[in-house]
Amino acid sequence: MSRLCPHCGTAFEPTGGTQRCCRRKRCIAEYDAANRDRVAKRKAAYYAANRERIAKQHAAYRAANLDKVAKYQAAHYAANRARILKRQAAYAAANRERIAKYQAAYRAANR
Ligand SMILES: [Zn+2]
Repeated sequence: MSRLCPHCGTAFEPTGGTQRCCRRKRCIAEYDAANRDRVAKRKAAYYAANRERIAKQHAAYRAANLDKVAKYQAAHYAANRARILKRQAAYAAANRERIAKYQAAYRAANR
């Protein structure tokens, strides 16, 4: 039995009894926007519960896509250079002591 998506009106075949939306990208984005708090909490809980698995997946992805990742990072840096530098400066200013300690320990260990 097919249902109509409440977001876009498309008929779809639900894969489970509770599926209400067609799961197109646009409709999922709309759902996320309408339920931002709930979604953020659920995502945080998911990450907390699966931290190791996710980290492994990311590491494997980066290892398999070195060129692509480097390109993305360069593009991101170029597009957000001002914001990134500002944030780094703010972090350095707010954590001056901690950074100095860390650097001293690093220098002592890598003389
Ligand atoms: Zn839809």
